[in-house]
This record gives sequence, structure tokens and C-alpha cells, in this order.
Amino acid sequence: MHGRILIVGGGIMGVSIAQKCAPRTRESLVLIEKKHLGAGSSGRSGAILRAHYRDAVVARMAHESLREYSSFAARTGLPLGFQRTGVITLAGPKQPEWCQRVRENVAMMQGLGIRVELVDAARMRALVPGSVIAEGSVGSWEPDGGFVDPNQTLASFAQQATELGAELRMGVELLELCMENGRVSGARTSAGELVAEQIVVVAGPWTRALLARHGLDFPLKVVRPENHYLGVPEMGLDPSGAARGAHPVLIDLELGSYARCDPANARTRIGRIDYDDDHEILDPDALDEHVSPELVRWGRAALSGRIPAYASRADAGSLAAWYTLTPDAQALIGPVPGIAGLFIVSGFSGHGFKLGPAVGEGVAQMLFGEKVTALDPAFFAPDRFQGGEGWGGRFGL
Ligand SMILES: Cc1cc2nc3c(=O)[nH]c(=O)nc-3n(C[C@H](O)[C@H](O)[C@H](O)COP(=O)(O)OP(=O)(O)OC[C@H]3O[C@@H](n4cnc5c(N)ncnc54)[C@H](O)[C@@H]3O)c2cc1C
Repeated sequence: MHGRILIVGGGIMGVSIAQKCAPRTRESLVLIEKKHLGAGSSGRSGAILRAHYRDAVVARMAHESLREYSSFAARTGLPLGFQRTGVITLAGPKQPEWCQRVRENVAMMQGLGIRVELVDAARMRALVPGSVIAEGSVGSWEPDGGFVDPNQTLASFAQQATELGAELRMGVELLELCMENGRVSGARTSAGELVAEQIVVVAGPWTRALLARHGLDFPLKVVRPENHYLGVPEMGLDPSGAARGAHPVLIDLELGSYARCDPANARTRIGRIDYDDDHEILDPDALDEHVSPELVRWGRAALSGRIPAYASRADAGSLAAWYTLTPDAQALIGPVPGIAGLFIVSGFSGHGFKLGPAVGEGVAQMLFGEKVTALDPAFFAPDRFQGGEGWGGRFGL
């Protein structure tokens, strides 16, 4: 098999890159995935779409990606399960630094032309009926935000990439990269040898170990977040009944939580926005699926404290997954220094789904030698760390 470009990994980044590369080439473009689409972080993602970030370069990418996500179904006829619930990012009155950060982020986003509003406690209470939000809280309101169904999105992006000429091969594992004279020449896979001039390793939590086999060490750490679900309360927002119970996504800097209300599936997901309590995973294949009672208790208490109607709702499941972290909570995207033709795209630190289309476009621009406009290569440079940095960040907020 011959592939001018080989993409390793069938998560949101892999399918986005395939989709953006396919129209640019008549030569072969192959994506291999060792299990199935969404077998990594992407399939378990909250897939919340917001543009609220601290860094303008990321906010712009999130904004461009949101535009693509929200118009994709109309453009292609393929569904993503997009729900425009709006997104509130909230800081509490006892968090002056976070309140200031929210104000600054909103000003920056408005400067980029993003539809976002600085909102006070009363306005947030009106946007989330029945919520308990203290006077002095500060929030941002993104009316265009929401979330997609991650697995439907992967399937639709994959279908579009295939229709545009990419070959997506499921159940094919990359075993080893082949290199000659300082550049990639192909790969040894579970389905045989593959010849390739450019290889993009977009293997999520498996990326670090995969590249380490070749003596390549990147500052990536895999941790295990847990999420819990509660039934959606009837909040009577929509008299037609269509969206009964829907409330905006809440990114809650005060409680350290996020909540994604999904009335279509009758449940709301809650998770932490800090990584500190998440346990490091040394072997991503050995993920412990058991969710701790502490997380379940914390999730119920946090959400019911903010929106008391949740107190009477039943538990509706939980999940464990993987985040792939970098020291500054921003991804590594770009060429691997010293090995021509090899690219790394990993380390999205729990907030990458929303950036998929922009990352796909930016990586396609890199691979085809175009001016890179869809992302800032210096900001995401894989060799930007000196070593010795700590691990932190709250989803780039
Ligand atoms: C619980 C949870 C909630 C999240 N919520 C949000 C959110 O609300 N909004 C947001 O923007 N982001 C969110 N994220 C983050 C986001 O989902 C990730 O940043 C994103 O999915 C990463 O995608 P990826 O394609 O880089 O990696 P992955 O989705 O992990 O894909 C990597 C793929 O590579 C495959 N692979 C690995 N090794 C090999 C090999 N040797 N050969 C072939 N294939 C291989 C794997 O099977 C896997 O399918 C969340 C993540 C989690 C876990």
C-alpha cells in the first residue's frame, strides 16, 4: 500500500485532518485507526463548543471551528447532532482574579468579532431559570455555543473525508515508523507495510508511548478524568416542549465544574475543569472504567447547588476517559524536529474537540507547504518546552 500522507488515529483530529487534506491531493491519503472511530478521547468527549479562551489565537480557532461545526449539516447533509444551547462561563464574587480574567477574555473575544456578552448575576439567573448565582458573579454569555454529538460528528467527518478521496482503514494499528536518512519512509502496521512521505501521529493518549519507541520524548501526560450524568430537570424553558429542560452549558469557575445539559438524551453531564485530582495513567489500554463514588457525590452536590432542580433527578450513568496533557494545557502541533516528514498533533489537554476543524485546516496547510493561517505554529510548536515545567491550566480558560 502506498500513501503520500499517512494519518495515525481516528479521533476528531485524525478525521478533521483527513477531511482537509483530501481535496488538496490526488495522491493517496490513508488514515489508520487501531480500533474504531472514537476509540480514544473523542468518543467520550463532552464536545462542548465555546470560543471563551484566554489566548486570542485559540479563541479565533474555536470561533472558526464553531462556524464550521454549526454549518456542516446544512453544507453536507451529514448530521453532527449540534445543539445550540449557548455557553455561560461563570466566576464567583470571591474570585476577583477569575472575574477579571472573564472580563478580559470577553473584551478580547469581542475584539475578534465573536458574539459574546459580559453578564451579571441577574442576567445569568434569567438565562438559567432556577439557578442560584450570587450577586457579584461575573460571566460571559456565548449565544452561538453549544455542543455536538461526538460520535455522530466523527462518523460524518469520516464519511465526508471518504467521499473526498481519503481511505480510512479501521482495525489497523501502527506498530513502528520506518525512517531513512533522517526522514520518514513509511510504517509497519498490523496490516503490513505502508509507504508514506508524510506521517501525522494523532494518536491521542497513545502518542507519547508510540513516539518513545523511536527515542522521541515529548512532554505529554495522560490522566483519567471522570464524568457523571444526572437526569435533566423540567425547567419549562420552551413552551412548545421541544427543548424542555435545556439550559446553557455552564463552565463554572467558582465550583470547578462544567455541566452540559442534553435534553435530547435526557441527561446532563458534569465534570471537573481542573486536572489536579485526575490520576495519571501509564498504560492507556488499561483504563479503569469504574467511576469513584466521590466523583458521583461531588457531581450531584455541585450541580444541585447551582441548579437545585437537579437534587431530585436520578443518576443517569458515568464514565471514565483519558486527557492527554501538556505543561501549558495547549497542544503540540507541528513537525517533529530532526525527522523530516513526521508530524505530531497531540496534547489537547481536555479541550480539543471544539478546535478540530481549525486544527485540520492548519495541519493540512503545513503538510502541503502552504502559508499556515488556520493556527499559530509558534504557539503550538512541539519543541516549545525547556523541561521542568509544571502541569496546570483549566482548559485554556
Ligand atoms: C471526558 C472528556 C470530555 C471532554 N470534553 C470536551 C469538551 O467538552 N469540549 C472539547 O473541546 N474537548 C473536550 N474533550 C477533549 C477532546 O475530546 C480531546 O481533546 C480530543 O477528542 C482529542 O482528539 P484526538 O483525535 O487528538 O485523540 P483521540 O480521540 O484520543 O484519538 C486517538 C486515536 O488514535 C488511535 N490510535 C492510538 N494508537 C494507535 C496506533 N498505534 N495505530 C492506529 N491508531 C491508534 C486510538 O484508538 C484513538 O482512536 C473531552 C475529553 C474527554 C476525555
